[in-house]
Amino acid sequence: NEKLGRKQDGRSYTAFEEAKQYLPGGVNSPVRAYKSVGLTPIYAEHASGSRVYDIDGNSYIDYVGSWGPLIMGHAHPEVVKALQEAAAKGTSFGMPTLLETEMAKLVVERVPSIDIVRMVNSGTEATMSAIRLARGYTGRSKILKFEGSYHGHADSLLIKAGSGVATLGLPDSPGVPEGVASNTIAVPYNDLESVELAFKRFGEEIAGVIVEPVAGNMGVVPPQPGFLEGLRRLTTEYGSVLIFDEVMTGFRVGLNCAQGRFGITPDLTCLGKVIGGGLPVGAYGGKKEIMEQIAPSGPIYQAGTLSGNPLAMTAGFTTLSLLTPEVYDRLENLSAKLEAGFTANVKERGLPCTINRVGSMMCPFLTDQTVVNFETAKTSDLGLFRRYFAALSEEGINVAPSQFEGMFISGVHTDEDIELTIEAHRNALRRL
Ligand code: PMP
Repeated sequence: NEKLGRKQDGRSYTAFEEAKQYLPGGVNSPVRAYKSVGLTPIYAEHASGSRVYDIDGNSYIDYVGSWGPLIMGHAHPEVVKALQEAAAKGTSFGMPTLLETEMAKLVVERVPSIDIVRMVNSGTEATMSAIRLARGYTGRSKILKFEGSYHGHADSLLIKAGSGVATLGLPDSPGVPEGVASNTIAVPYNDLESVELAFKRFGEEIAGVIVEPVAGNMGVVPPQPGFLEGLRRLTTEYGSVLIFDEVMTGFRVGLNCAQGRFGITPDLTCLGKVIGGGLPVGAYGGKKEIMEQIAPSGPIYQAGTLSGNPLAMTAGFTTLSLLTPEVYDRLENLSAKLEAGFTANVKERGLPCTINRVGSMMCPFLTDQTVVNFETAKTSDLGLFRRYFAALSEEGINVAPSQFEGMFISGVHTDEDIELTIEAHRNALRRL
């Protein structure tokens, strides 16, 4: 077995210093800069299965999985082979391909609420387009979202957002016009009473409610019993569109996504991450009556030069095809084992820690409070998290450099990976 862990980082350090001269903050997406943990980011050299290798020659067991997409691990041989074959046939046509229909059929078959689906290039595009559609369809302007949820970086959704926005402590981004921000209502996650109040006050103006059916951008926060049901009831009552943002949960928490797992049918669903199998893909879909309002069947405009791209569809289709009920059983078993190991470790060490987990999404919050929303997630000890993160990295466990992100277990993590991870975690905690 290779020696895991961040042992040297000289080349990563130099690479980051150079990158800062050419890229804002040295990166193309803020969280990659490791700013909140005060470390140099590790520069990836290659990755395979559950392992990532950096340019300094260090290796890690990976629980970031490219921030969610890689449910079947890095460079899965079938995905790589399919991509090689697809690339040789042409990387983009700007014409329809059979593959797009095959992909759409598979999504319609798997996602209960989706009758018809439009492919885009990122989660941000999916949510941005879904709220435009909800607004166009209802003729209303306001959107209701939840504090600490992240739905990508479109103006309307960048209000009290989670993920990198929470990590960097930038609750409301400059550059979002007041007129746009005033049309977004943000209330606490799992707080149905606040949603009800908002509907009582603005009911006739609310175009849609957008929700992560398992919140994954304030760390991992499961919906409490009755929460999603309540959203379904209220949106129906007020004629608002219920949008499930399943960019993270889609095909992650189950074969039929979170909506299948919890048995709630939204009007629109946004997908991303896993659906692209590591290539840039997003999608939004739902009730035919609503979706047909999109151009060219309807008047609401949305388009994309590279949407439905053959490489992206190939990686997505191949990945979704690998996902069987057995894979989800395996994910559950591995993840439960990891959770049990972490729980025993924090107990042994007497650390304040609350572990939330839904399937292969897991988050150890460094707090002794129960975490049900962003307020409670923020009771985590962020100073301790920095040291925890550094120690884990030194032990060879790669997790997201933020308390407000989950860990993702993949279907190619082995039992041995999980055992090694629990051992490394135990060693890391001892060093805190
Ligand atoms: N919605 C959710 C729930 C997400 O987790 C993310 C990304 N983390 C997005 C939307 C945005 O997706 P993308 O980064 O692909 O634009």
